[in-house]
Parts: sequence; structure tokens; C-alpha cells
Amino acid sequence: MSTATAFFQQQDFITAAYVVAFGMFIVGLAKLTSPTTAVQGNKIAAVGMLIAVLATLLNPGLDGADFLLIAVGLTIGTIIGVPSARNVKMTAMPQMVALFNGVGGGAVALIAFAEFRHDPAELSADLAIGIPLVLAAIIGSISFWGSNIAFAKLQGLISGSPVKIPSGLLVNIALMLVAVGAGIAILLGSESQGLFVLILLAAAILGNLAVLPIGGADMPVVISTLNAFTGLSAAAAGIALNNYALIVAGMIVGASGTILTDQMAKAMNRSIGSVLLGGFGGEAPAVEGAGGETGGTVRSTSAADVAIQLAYARQVVVVPGYGMAVAQAQHAVREMAKVLEKKGIEVKYAIHPVAGRMPGHMNVLLAEADVPYDQLKEMDDINQEFGRTDVSLVIGANDVTNPDARMKADSPIYGMPILNVDESASVIVLKRSMASGFAGIENPLFFNEKTQMLFGDAKSSVGEITSELGQL
Ligand code: NDP
Repeated sequence: MSTATAFFQQQDFITAAYVVAFGMFIVGLAKLTSPTTAVQGNKIAAVGMLIAVLATLLNPGLDGADFLLIAVGLTIGTIIGVPSARNVKMTAMPQMVALFNGVGGGAVALIAFAEFRHDPAELSADLAIGIPLVLAAIIGSISFWGSNIAFAKLQGLISGSPVKIPSGLLVNIALMLVAVGAGIAILLGSESQGLFVLILLAAAILGNLAVLPIGGADMPVVISTLNAFTGLSAAAAGIALNNYALIVAGMIVGASGTILTDQMAKAMNRSIGSVLLGGFGGEAPAVEGAGGETGGTVRSTSAADVAIQLAYARQVVVVPGYGMAVAQAQHAVREMAKVLEKKGIEVKYAIHPVAGRMPGHMNVLLAEADVPYDQLKEMDDINQEFGRTDVSLVIGANDVTNPDARMKADSPIYGMPILNVDESASVIVLKRSMASGFAGIENPLFFNEKTQMLFGDAKSSVGEITSELGQL
């Protein structure tokens, strides 16, 4: 072995490379906090990951056969991962995240199984290795199978509605006891491969059954919880394998997934417990009848009327939602805003933390359309401004503007913080019909006497408003 090779394979060098990689993960994460630096942050974290992978390949324990296997794995992963990440539509991003997250958990469960097969006696001989490996197998398997169900729900492969399992909680507790019991038997000295498979199997069924009863609207919270699980399982595997990269990266994923879960649950006013025990959400049924259960009249308007109202406004707040993403109306919205700004009208954008179908969905779309970042206002800030707003232009948003969240104690979204658009002088809602949003409930805002509905696809409607504005 040459001196140079020996130097690069020294454990200290590998550890130093890992430390550089972690530093880059953390700097990358910090930069994700602002849209202006997010892309750069992503690149820095990606380079950090490349360094961690290269450092792992320097491990002196690897031989030719290992490298071949690693090359095959990298090739398969690249062939599947790169095109799917490049081609995924923005609206399908949550299920993509679910899928990738699940694969991480599955990989950890398989690593634990491979380690067990490599030396079954090691788990009971050294509990500092055995306990984390058993935990990695259980949590990784739950995360893989739970994420697959989350993916299938969001992709529409299975119904997004909550699927009630009879005595679900008891069944889940029993499955957890089976997995933990089999793990304890292995830690006490059993070298049975069947028992290890039982751990993986019980955790797999638990992952499926735990996510099936959860409705589509709660799915992002579930995905981020499973993401935290994957991180914890990776960290556990890292402890067992004495691999710093897995420990630190796993803990970062575990911690950030936990914080994100907490923040999203707060934004939807769902306790994490109530989310995991099943909740609202699913298919979005059309609201029957003109007045629905709310009663009242729906006032329909035209693009020409909307243009006149906007032209006489001093401040217009655009409230984007999932429908803007579906219609891909963000560029049209930006063009309309430019025309309004030329007329001296102030335009701001109200960003609800769970508008759309993934955290940051609206920020990403509006950034893509070059909307200046300082015009994007977070919920707490913009809610103080609706009182002095002339027109709120709700573009494909529904649940995030539903006043029932404030007023109707038996509403499934009661307590969820919303954008108080009904405090503005007038509200114009752009959507195609009276259909409900993700939570599947009626929105009394549409029957409010201040509200006018401009029915149609958001992109066409905004385009028509802009051309009408041009003629004023
Ligand atoms: P909603 O899902 O409440 O409503 C979207 C509305 O957009 C629908 O009522 C629909 O009405 C309209 N729409 C759909 N397509 C078009 C189109 N082409 N043109 C115009 N309008 C259209 O969206 P919100 O953003 O208000 O709320 C998000 C909901 O999703 C919340 O319940 C949230 O909890 C949940 N959620 C959030 C996630 C996140 O992380 N952000 C992830 C998953 C769920 P119509 O059919 O009549 O056009």
C-alpha cells in the first residue's frame, strides 16, 4: 500500500472528512431558512453528502466485491432517483418525499438484518450493538412500510380517506409487543433468523396499519413524522456500526423531522396524537346546493368586474392555495401583479404554512415566478393587514381561509389558524366550482356578503383579469 493510500485510509482522515460533511449539512440547513439562499444551501448539503460517501468508500475494510456491490447500488439508485426527482411535478412532491424517506428507512432495516446475518451472536454478546440494531430494524421497517402507504394515498393509488381498522390501537400495540418481544429474545441469546424476520414483519404490518387510518389532509404531518423515524433508525444503525456519518446525519434528520412535525401540526391545529390516531381529510366532495349547509347566496362575478375593483384598490392581498399550484397560475399571477403595481397599487401575498400540499409549496411556486420575497407575508404578519386591505384575491385557496376554523367548534378544522381574509373590504375567490378543499368541508367565506366568486381555472381567470386591467 502506498504512503498516500495509507494516509487517506487512516481512520482520523475519514473522521475528519465526516466532520467537514456534517459542517456542510448544518450550513446547508441554515441556508434553507431563506428563499434567497435555499438553492445554495441545498447544493452545499449535497456536496457534504458526496464527501461523506467518498469518506465511507475509503474504509480499509472494503474489498473488490464490496466495491462492485456499492457500484451496482449507486447505479440503480441514480438511474431511478435522478429522472424521478427531475421530472416530478411540484404538486406530487409530498409523495415523492414520502417515497424517498421510506427507502431510507427500508435501507436501515436491511442493514440491521445484514449485520445480524453476518454475526447473529454479536447482538447478545454486545448489547451496545444489539439494542441499536434491533431498534434500527423496528423503526426502519415501520418507516418504510408507513411511507409506502403515505405515498399510495397521496398518489391516489389507494383512497386518501381514513381507513378504520377494527380495534386498530389494540392491534398496533400487539404488533409492537411482538416486534419488541422478538428483539428481546435475540438480545437474550437467540440466534434465530426467523425471529429477526418476525421483527421486520411485525413492524411492517404496524407501519401499514398505523398510516392507513390517517386521512389525506394529515399526510404531510405523517410523512414528516416518518421522516424523523427514518433519521432515528439511521442514527441507531450508526451507533451499532460505529459510523459517525450515520449517527450525525440520522440525528439531524430525526431532529429536523420532529421539529417540522411539531410546526405543521400546530399550523393545522392538530395534536400529533390526534393525527396519528386518525383524523379528517380525504376525498373532496362537491358541496351540494347553492347555499350548502351554511345557507346564503353565492355571488358570481366576471373578470371585467374584478379588474375594476382591483384598479380602484390601494392594497390587494393575493391568497394563493392548492388550486394555484394545480392551475400553474403563478406566472400569470405575477404578470397581473406587475400591471397592478404599475397603477400604484400595493400587492402582497399571504402565505399560510399549510397552503397547497407541502410545506413551503406557495413560496416555491411564487419564487419560481420571480415574485419579490419581501412581498411574501407570513400568516401572522398578513393577518394584521387584512383590516386595511381593499381586495383579497383568493386564488385556488379554500381550507386556509375557512372562517369555521375560528367560529364553529364542531368543525374538523376548528382551531386551525387561518388567513382572516374576511376582514378585508372585499374578497374575490377564484376557483372552478363550489367543491370543497382537502378537508372536504364547506367554506362559509364563499357565502359571505363581501365575497364574489370568479368561477374558472385560476390561470385563465387571472389571464382574463390582466387583459381587462390593460384596457382600463
Ligand atoms: P384546498 O385544498 O383547501 O383547496 C384548494 C381549492 O383549489 C379547491 O377547493 C379547488 O376548488 C381549487 N382548485 C383546484 N384546481 C383549481 C384550478 N385549476 N383553478 C382554480 N381553482 C382550483 O387548498 P388550500 O391551499 O386552501 O389548503 C390546503 C389544504 O391541504 C389544507 O387542508 C391543508 O391542511 C392540506 N394539506 C396541506 C399540506 C401542506 O403541507 N401544505 C399537504 C397536504 C394537505 P375547485 O375544485 O372548485 O376548483
